[in-house]
Amino acid sequence: MAAPLYETDEPVLYALADGISTLTLNRPQFGNAQNSQMTYALDAAFRRAVDDDAVRVIVLRGAGKHFNAGHDIGTPGQDGDQPFPRVQLWWDHSDKPGAEKLYAREQEIYIGMCRRWHDIPKPTIAMVHGACIAGGLMLAWVCDLIIASDDAFFQDPVVRMGVPGVEYFAHAQELNPRIAKEFLFLGERMSAERAHMMGMVNRVVPRDQLEAETYAMAARIAQQPRMGLALTKQVLNRIEELQGLRAGIDLAFGYHHLAHAHNQAQGGDAIGGQDLRSMAAANKGGGGQTR
Ligand code: ZN
Repeated sequence: MAAPLYETDEPVLYALADGISTLTLNRPQFGNAQNSQMTYALDAAFRRAVDDDAVRVIVLRGAGKHFNAGHDIGTPGQDGDQPFPRVQLWWDHSDKPGAEKLYAREQEIYIGMCRRWHDIPKPTIAMVHGACIAGGLMLAWVCDLIIASDDAFFQDPVVRMGVPGVEYFAHAQELNPRIAKEFLFLGERMSAERAHMMGMVNRVVPRDQLEAETYAMAARIAQQPRMGLALTKQVLNRIEELQGLRAGIDLAFGYHHLAHAHNQAQGGDAIGGQDLRSMAAANKGGGGQTR
């Protein structure tokens, strides 16, 4: 496979001011689609924020029109076949056969990284505007708080690929199971307002106030003692696991890879013949925004 053509050397921007570090997903021309270049850069940026004692709170945001349009399924910088220096204790996927290749890659780059980011001992806030689709949900969900602008929407259209939702399957924790079924079966957009109603989002604010609200909240949290915040977060994360988050994701990940393997066994690719264009068309044409 041809080497990826990266449009930037900085797929994640890093800034620090007033004890708040800002991590900006920076592939705006592609809706900040997550290639491996970006997820490894994001992992490194989180590491940098954890290591720096001056950082009290971390804000994750997207450059351009959208927070995040999901995993990279077809930009020139798509790099899923490439080897990278790994951050988990999983072996390199790039030279492996059959279903092992994607299984090893997604253990490392999706489940492994998302769990690392969820357990960062400092408070994290996702500042969401525009689209938050599929893999984008994973980034928002692993943050502690989600502040959304009133134009934001959330969507997991991955069932269209014959796959039961994105890899970090927190749907039944973020939404109740009946709403999660609606969200997945229809694959339609959920407005920020409804996501707020369902408890997935902490606050919805007008677009022009999103930044001010997010940073005001971050500044208040930054006044709290580091250990108090870290311990509180650990307690709540462990309780989420006791409520089934970890086991649910492990279970869903097995089905997720049955689906990828099934798609491939039928002679196609892992995502049921879909690509960037077909998914974009279906997401638009498939209508409606669920309220
Ligand atoms: Zn997958």
